Amino acid sequence: MTPAGTDTHCPYCALQCAMTLTPSEEGVGVAARSFPTNKGGLCQKGWTSAEVLTLTDRITTPLLRGTSGELEPVSWAQAVAFVADRVRTLQAEHGRDAIGVFGGGGLTNEKAYQLGKFTRTVLRSRHIDYNGRFCMSSAAAAGNRAFGIDRGLPFPLADLSEAEAVLLLGSNVADTMPPLVQHLAGVRERGGLLVVDPRRSATAALAEDGAGIHLQPLPGTDQALLLGLLHLVVAEGLADEEYLAARVTGWDDVRRSVALWWPTRVASITGVPEEVLRRTVQVLAAASPTRGGGGAMVLTGRGAEQHTDGTDTVTAAINLALALGLPGSRASGYGCLTGQGNGQGGREHGQKADQLPGYRSIEDPAARAHVARVWGVEEATIPGKGVPAVQLLDKLGGEVRALFVHGANLLVSAPDATAVRRRVESLDLLVVCDFVPSETALLADVVLPVTQWAEEEGTMTSLEGRILRRRKAIDPPGKARSELEILADLAGLLGSEVHFDTEPALVFDELARASAGGVADYSGLSHARLDAETGPLHWPVPAGSGGTPRLFRDRFGHADGRARMVPVSPGGPADDLRPDAPLYLVTGRVLAQYQSGAQTRRVAALDRSAPGPFVELHPNLAARYGIDDGDDVRVTSARGAAVARARITTAIRPDTVFMPFHWSGAGMANAVTNDATDPVSGMPEFKVCAVEIARAAQP
Ligand code: SF4
Repeated sequence: MTPAGTDTHCPYCALQCAMTLTPSEEGVGVAARSFPTNKGGLCQKGWTSAEVLTLTDRITTPLLRGTSGELEPVSWAQAVAFVADRVRTLQAEHGRDAIGVFGGGGLTNEKAYQLGKFTRTVLRSRHIDYNGRFCMSSAAAAGNRAFGIDRGLPFPLADLSEAEAVLLLGSNVADTMPPLVQHLAGVRERGGLLVVDPRRSATAALAEDGAGIHLQPLPGTDQALLLGLLHLVVAEGLADEEYLAARVTGWDDVRRSVALWWPTRVASITGVPEEVLRRTVQVLAAASPTRGGGGAMVLTGRGAEQHTDGTDTVTAAINLALALGLPGSRASGYGCLTGQGNGQGGREHGQKADQLPGYRSIEDPAARAHVARVWGVEEATIPGKGVPAVQLLDKLGGEVRALFVHGANLLVSAPDATAVRRRVESLDLLVVCDFVPSETALLADVVLPVTQWAEEEGTMTSLEGRILRRRKAIDPPGKARSELEILADLAGLLGSEVHFDTEPALVFDELARASAGGVADYSGLSHARLDAETGPLHWPVPAGSGGTPRLFRDRFGHADGRARMVPVSPGGPADDLRPDAPLYLVTGRVLAQYQSGAQTRRVAALDRSAPGPFVELHPNLAARYGIDDGDDVRVTSARGAAVARARITTAIRPDTVFMPFHWSGAGMANAVTNDATDPVSGMPEFKVCAVEIARAAQP
C-alpha cells in the first residue's frame, strides 16, 4: 500500500488500470500507479473517475414510487419490506420464475457470486443473466469449444510487448483502452500490427502509420475473411503440421472446409484486396515461434464477436491461430479483449443463466452437488438453466413479472432498446440497484442506492484472468449500502434459511470454496493473500498454487488435453440489405464515454470531450444523400430510428455508417440495432444492421 493513499483499480474497463486514491477535503485525488497492464497510464475516464462519487444527482437514499407516480425517499426498512412483499405475492400468483435478475459485468466477484446465490437459493428462479451476454459471450463460447477453458487472455497482457505480429479483429483499443497501446509499441515498430475494422479507427491508423496493415472489410464478413486467411495458410504450406498432430483434433475437417475460400472469392465478399490477404498471412506466419519468429497473436474484440455468427467467427479466428501453432507458444496465442471492468469475473461466479460458481455448468450433476453443499441447500432445489439476456428481456411482462437490475442500464445498452423499454414498462415490479438516476432507474418502482468502487472492498478479475483487490478509500454517502447487505436483508425477509455473509472477505472465502475444482478455481485465494502478495495471481489458483499466468503451455482444457478445431461457415448478418435499408450500421464506443454512458455522461470533462451522439459517414455517401458535416442525420432500421450529427470522414467505408451507443433520447443507437442473437452464445448482433439514412429537418 502507498502510505499516502489507497491502492485500487479503475472502476471502468477490463484493463483495470492501477490507481491510488487520496481523499481530501476537496474530494478524492486519483494518481496513476504502475502495474503490468497499464504501465503507469490511465485514460481520460480513469483520471476523472472520482467525480462520479460526488455527482450532484447521486442517489443516496432508497426511493419508492408513490401514489403520485413519482419516486419518493423512504427508509431502507420500507424499501426492502415493499420489495419482499411484492416478490412473495408475484411468486405466489405466477410461480418462482416470475422474478428475473439482470446482473452486470461491473459488479465485484463477491457481488456477482452473491447475486447468483440469491437468485438460486432465495428466489429459486432460473431467470438470471447479465449484461456480459452483450459483451463477450461469443468469445467465451468459442474459447470453451476450442480450449475447454474461457479466460479472455490465457497469457499476461504484457506478453503482447514481445510479439512480432498481432492480428486484432474488431477492437479499437486506442480509444477503448488507451494504456494498452503501450504493449503494442514494439509490434507496431516491427510492422506487425494487423488491424481488421470497417473504420480506419485510431487503432487501425496506428497499424497503417507503423507499416502494419489495416484490413477494412464489409461489416459482417469477418468470418469469410478469416476463412480466406486460413485457406492461404494451407495453400502456401504454412500450417504447423507437427503442432497440429501433437496438440489438436479436427484439423483434417477444418483444412477441407476452407478449400473453397479462395483469395479472389474472399476479396470479392469482404472488399479486402487479395494482395492484402496474402501479406497478412505472411506476416503472421513468419512471426510464429515454431518458424523461428518472435511470436504471433490473434485477438478478437466486439467487432468480430457481436454477430449472429459470432461464436463461429471467433472459432475461425482460433482455427487460424491453431493452424499456425500459436496457442501455448511463446508470446503467442489467441485471446479475447474483454470489455467490462469485471467482464471476466462476472461470468465465472454464477450470474450467467447456464452457470454455477467456478465457471461450471448448472447442468453438471457433480457441480450442482458441490455448490449445493457450499450453500447448505438440497441440490434438487437449485433451479435449472435459464435463458440468455435477450431472451430474458423478451419474457418481461409475460412469464417474468418482476425484474431486479444490478449494475446495468439496459434501456440504453440493450439491442432494440425501444422495444425493451416497452416490455420493462409492462412489468409488475422493477427494482434497480444503482447510484445514479440512469434511464433504467428512472422507470423503477424501487431504487436501492448502492456503494461504489472507492467505497467498498472486493475483488475484480481483469481481462488477463488476474484477480485484483478493490479497496475502500472513503465512506459511502447518505444511506448507500452494498448489494451484499441488501441481498442479505431480502433473503431474511423472504424467509430464507440460507446464510448470506455481508463482509466482502467472507463472501470471497465462500466463493473460493464454491469454485474449488472448477475451471475458474479461486480456492487458493483470500483477500488476505491478495493483500500480502503482489505476484501475478491469475486463475486457476487452487489451494497451494501460485496461480497460472499462462495457460495451454502443455495441454488444453479438454479431457484429452487437445484443442478442438471445428469447421465453420459464415451465416451473414440477420438483417439483409434491401432497397429501403441499403447501408450497414456499425456501433461502437468513443474514448471519453463508457458503455451506456450513465456514469461518464455525468462527468463534466468527459461530456465536454464527447458531448453527444454522431453519425460517421463517408464523403461520397454524404454527397449522394445531400448531407453536410454537422447536419442532423436520421438513421432508420426495421426497429426504429435515431437522429444525430453527421461527421463526414474518409475513415469509414462508403457503404457503412457508424454510431456510438453511449446516449439515450433521439440519438440512441440501440433504438436502431437488431436483437437477433447468436444461437450458441446468445450474443446480440450489435455490430451490423441494415439502415437507411436521410438528412433530418433542422430544429
Ligand atoms: Fe480505466 Fe480502462 Fe481507462 Fe484504464 S483504460 S483508466 S481501466 S477506463
